[in-house]
Amino acid sequence: MFKALVVNKDEESGKTSASVEEIDLAQLPQGEVTVAVEYSTVNYKDGLCIGPGGGLVRNYPHVPGIDFSGTVEESSDDRYKPGDKVVLTGWRVGEAHWGGYAQKARVRADWLVPLPEGLDARQAMAVGTAGLTAMLAVQALEDQGLKSGPVLVTGAAGGVGSVATAILANLGHKVAAVTGRAEQADYLRDLGASDILGREEFEEVTRKPLEGERWGGCVDAVAGAMLGRVLKQMEYGSSVAAIGLAGGAAIEGALITPFILRGVNLLGIDSVMQPYDNRVRAWERIARDLPMDKLEAMVQPATLSDLPGLGRDILKGQVKGRVVVDVN
Ligand code: NDP
Repeated sequence: MFKALVVNKDEESGKTSASVEEIDLAQLPQGEVTVAVEYSTVNYKDGLCIGPGGGLVRNYPHVPGIDFSGTVEESSDDRYKPGDKVVLTGWRVGEAHWGGYAQKARVRADWLVPLPEGLDARQAMAVGTAGLTAMLAVQALEDQGLKSGPVLVTGAAGGVGSVATAILANLGHKVAAVTGRAEQADYLRDLGASDILGREEFEEVTRKPLEGERWGGCVDAVAGAMLGRVLKQMEYGSSVAAIGLAGGAAIEGALITPFILRGVNLLGIDSVMQPYDNRVRAWERIARDLPMDKLEAMVQPATLSDLPGLGRDILKGQVKGRVVVDVN
């Protein structure tokens, strides 16, 4: 038997509830590799899956947790053997397949990545999907060629934004951080941001075709009106890596002008189905380019029983940086 955060659904009322329960190993889903989970984390999607699921969860009872790190216990796949340290993000684990909010997980070998050298299991979950996505965004901007101006990070005090700020600053870029939480200014400066901008500066939807060129690149976690404005402020030939929709799924006030008059690129970043080789490349870059003291400053520790509250908080945009859940 082992502990897990289980979400149950009352068929009559349709309401869901989450609590820590004891589970039998035989209840785990099918997969080639059984992992003794050490740590997990909390992402926006986890907030949805701890609650009513937001259309992501197919079957109940459900064990959420889209990320985990731990040690292989059993494997019928040649790539992994007992004792190997592994990390998992994406592939709809924690949504369509039982996830990391448990002391054991059973998954397909294809979904795992060996823990990169230089990162331990706890640090890997301080990074998690949020940090991996931030690194994928930075790689995409670099592949297009970052321009001279400062790099803008939106939703900066959130998980993706915090890691993106720390990586970009460490690589020597001037980082401008947009936040709706003025009280997080010192935190963002400590991560390496040179300028802190209020969210309200970007909230007005305008019909202007272009604004002054301000940004040499952008990692955007927000979309909505913010992305519509930011696109018009990008330098000639620069790129925006679009990773999230914390401010809405539409790009409000967006016009074609930044694309056809300034050659601006909008780069879509997906972490869920990212091919294996690029995941390995991104994890290796994280181990090298993300300063571990900055990562530590982002972490708030948690246990399985804290998760229902944290799930509600992240949906309200109230989680700062990265949560690391010790499932044991
Ligand atoms: P967090 O909740 O940690 O961060 C999101 C941040 O966005 C908040 O902290 C807040 O930052 C800002 N924000 C929240 N609500 C609003 C709003 N209404 N208007 C403007 N800004 C807002 O989430 P994550 O960093 O984990 O994820 C960010 C987004 O990226 C989510 O939409 C998530 O679903 C998506 N995502 C996508 C992935 C992919 O593969 N493409 C992978 C991971 C996440 P502040 O307080 O600083 O303003």
